[in-house]
Amino acid sequence: MKRIIGVLCALAVFVCAGAFAFAASEDVPGFIRVGIGQYGSSLYYLDFPEGFAIYEYENGEIYLKESYPDVARAELVCQDGYINVYDEYGEELFISYGDTSRYFIGSTDMENGTFSEGGRTWRGGLMLYRCGSGYSYINVLSLEKYLYGVLPKEMSSSYPAEALKAQAVCARSYAARTVLSGGKHSAQGYDVCASQDCQVYGGMSCESAKCSSAAADTAGMLVYYNGAPVSCYYSANNGGWIESSQEIWGGGAGYLQAKKDDFNPDDNWEVAFTDEQLKSILRSAGHNIGNIQKVQITKRTAGGSVLEMEFTGDAGKAVINRDRIRFLFGSSVMRSLKFDLTENGYETVTKTIREPVEKEKSIALDQYYVLDRTGEVMVLNLNEVVAKSLSDALVIKKAETVTVEKTVQEKSGYDGIKISGRGFGHGVGMSQTGAREMASQGYGYQDILKYYFIGVTVQ
Ligand SMILES: [Zn+2]
Repeated sequence: MKRIIGVLCALAVFVCAGAFAFAASEDVPGFIRVGIGQYGSSLYYLDFPEGFAIYEYENGEIYLKESYPDVARAELVCQDGYINVYDEYGEELFISYGDTSRYFIGSTDMENGTFSEGGRTWRGGLMLYRCGSGYSYINVLSLEKYLYGVLPKEMSSSYPAEALKAQAVCARSYAARTVLSGGKHSAQGYDVCASQDCQVYGGMSCESAKCSSAAADTAGMLVYYNGAPVSCYYSANNGGWIESSQEIWGGGAGYLQAKKDDFNPDDNWEVAFTDEQLKSILRSAGHNIGNIQKVQITKRTAGGSVLEMEFTGDAGKAVINRDRIRFLFGSSVMRSLKFDLTENGYETVTKTIREPVEKEKSIALDQYYVLDRTGEVMVLNLNEVVAKSLSDALVIKKAETVTVEKTVQEKSGYDGIKISGRGFGHGVGMSQTGAREMASQGYGYQDILKYYFIGVTVQ
């Protein structure tokens, strides 16, 4: 009977319970699907401390289909497109095939319950979505509880509470916007991924009480501009100047404007590359410009972020733009686009050196020697012997080495470029370290958000 529950659910459109009730509003979806990994076909053990349940996901709603409060451990087998779940006595609880994202398993308490797999603990439920030869592992959970697993990964929990609250509203705004716009990763079966590409998410294992409080204290709050919720962008440190989205990404937004930042603390860094390193970095990105001759910054924003960099080599030229510059050198090495460049490879100095030169010397000898064609050496008696012709004899002359003065051009200092930068990240929107500074000066999270996002309301 139990073995066909999933199939039954697929066929019988019985009106079970209504949509699972999550705290939600028109602008904040009740739950979110987070891609937490990619797995091949295999077998897994899952623990459900609050009991095991089966849910159905349809049109953005979640329905409870079956509940097993006494099942605390389950065995999951993914094989040949089927997903089978057994209890610890080997009895089948759930089987699903075809559309593997429609039904999913989870805790009996989707809002506060948990499940564990492989030493990691997650809130809510687990959805599997067939993707190539494997499965996307998707954590389905309340959007508010999702923020508990994002905040400690996106901002240090040592930051003041008001800074953490500002971060919580930013993270919620991003998540809500992404879910409502159809999800960034819908092709893989989920709304957001768990990496920097969307927002870093570590599940329940990374939660901290201080971060969870910051999320709970701002529950349901979003940033609005012109009456609509907006995505809040942020970076660690903007180097003293808030950048506009128009200049950095080429897409304008009224609330993402440029201005001087009076709160962002200094964060200076330096990095150097030799000509040989530059050549190889450019080559690995498909720019074979030969030996580096010149490196120039050719375009900047008003705030100093580099928008265009030009590399000239003896075999060509490469022009790199905006984010591609950080990507080219590595975004943890090239920490921001706010930098100055010192080019030392072609600074030259004039020097005088003494150089050895081989010089022919005429010497007076009593006797001259002749090497004939047979290799025989004989003394040449100028009075008696006359060569038959010049081609019959080779006259040996003596040479000596002398030194002469010469002026040369030499490279000075190190070879390559030195980069002196400020800040960490793209610099658009909120500076996280600026938010920390504002909070420590007594500003509230709404002040912080309104300082970094021009003309917004927080509600
Ligand atoms: Zn992503």
